[in-house]
Amino acid sequence: MHIVHITSELAPAAKVGGLADVVHGLSRELERSGHHVDIILPKYDCLRYEDVKDLHVFFRDLESFEGPYRFPNTIWSGTVDGLRIYFIEPHHPNAYFSRGKIYGEKDDVERFTYFARTALEFLFKTGQNPDILHLHDWPTAIAAPLYKDMYRPLGLNKPAVVFTIHNLAHQGKCHPHILHRVGLNPDLYYTPEKLQDPHHTRDINLLKGAIVYSDAVTTVSPTYEKEIQTTEGGHGLHEVLRAYALKLHGILNGIDSDYWNPETDPHLIARYATHPPINEVKLKSITEAKKRNKRQLQVHLGLQQNDLPLCGTVTRLVAQKGPELIYYAIERTLELGGQFALLGGNASPEIAKQFVQLQKEYQYTGNAAIRLDYDEALAHQIYASADLFIIPSVFEPCGLTQMIALRYGAVPIVRSTGGLADTVFDKDDPHTNAKKSNGFAFIDPDHKGVNWALSRAVECWKDHPDQWLNLMCNGISMDFSWQSSAQQYLQLYRQCCLSEGV
Ligand code: ADP
Repeated sequence: MHIVHITSELAPAAKVGGLADVVHGLSRELERSGHHVDIILPKYDCLRYEDVKDLHVFFRDLESFEGPYRFPNTIWSGTVDGLRIYFIEPHHPNAYFSRGKIYGEKDDVERFTYFARTALEFLFKTGQNPDILHLHDWPTAIAAPLYKDMYRPLGLNKPAVVFTIHNLAHQGKCHPHILHRVGLNPDLYYTPEKLQDPHHTRDINLLKGAIVYSDAVTTVSPTYEKEIQTTEGGHGLHEVLRAYALKLHGILNGIDSDYWNPETDPHLIARYATHPPINEVKLKSITEAKKRNKRQLQVHLGLQQNDLPLCGTVTRLVAQKGPELIYYAIERTLELGGQFALLGGNASPEIAKQFVQLQKEYQYTGNAAIRLDYDEALAHQIYASADLFIIPSVFEPCGLTQMIALRYGAVPIVRSTGGLADTVFDKDDPHTNAKKSNGFAFIDPDHKGVNWALSRAVECWKDHPDQWLNLMCNGISMDFSWQSSAQQYLQLYRQCCLSEGV
């Protein structure tokens, strides 16, 4: 099967969050099982070029369109981690992908709709006719109606379209003039049945368009699939999602188990094997290695070198991740006699200011380290050193950090929502089988909830080491590799192809 991903992110070359990891992990697994995967990505000036191999011009002067204008594009080809990538470099006066960042520009909608249109133009002009076109989140959503109503009639007639919602909070709501820019007639598409936003009726909603036009819509965990169909979790699209419930599928993300492997992780000073079966000898070597990593991390972050329960978190410090609850968790961990290591990226100036202040307040204790940065190596070191790992998200479509933490033997404390609810099972929940329990969970995203779960976790670490090891062991033994998720995607791809008559 030939699958083409059109995406705004791909780990590790162009990564902001989990979307990048998913396209990478899923593609690698699909290739491993014998399928042909191509990935189309903007040629950002901020790509991590050291991760791109064999970069060369593949196609010069590919013409693409924006309203009545035509612009040339250079298509580059290269590989990232063995995956074939086509990079689109527009020669456009607005220098769409030379902004030093991936998102966060005023004209993001124009930038990414241009990219999506050009990606289809590239497939069309090079005569590629894949079986599946896989689109991700709002930046590439417009490719669904464009493909179905513009390129299919032109002869790009084979692919079925699969659209994945990684995060429903961002939908690409914008003025209907965007339709004209991408070549769709606003009279036909700015309608309640098609792209008009159900609430802000003066806008169109790109993500809604992909829900309407794709053959299948996936989201990244079974619980999130249910949550987005509710008024509370639907971010205004719950009715649309309910109307299209038959094409909705919740498939839990995996993690790249080669990349996130404490046995081979180049960022660690002490590596440890965590593949099952976990017997006593292996468990001992895991705990010893984790202690050595912890010592190293304490030195690196200027923490006291004591064997206190170390709570970590690696996150984007944005509203979704509950920054206020992370702040509280730091204070509470220290009160409970633990240490905290926070690695937080993407903080707004306001949020950053609060955490900088908190770091100043706790400097003298030597028990809290707050780094407001994106730091791949430090992230790995925190996973490998932490005893506990807290994720108090307000909502969490899937979440990768709890899975990575589990794999590295850090016991997660999570708010039970979305994918966190599908992967972390509370030790004290009477409905959880003792063999399955792997962490601590709380329901309400407030101080009471955090305190309840955090206190139980610290108490367990201090007073019940056997129970602690049992939690660790259950977590490490879980299989979060892409194998089973990729099989579910493949099954869905096949169903889509059958119903498209491919
Ligand atoms: P989201 O996609 O919402 O950011 P996920 O949990 O799905 O959250 O994925 C987060 C990914 O990004 C993980 O691989 C995590 O290790 C990484 N990450 C998040 N914040 C940072 C950071 N500040 N530094 C390094 N890596 C980070």
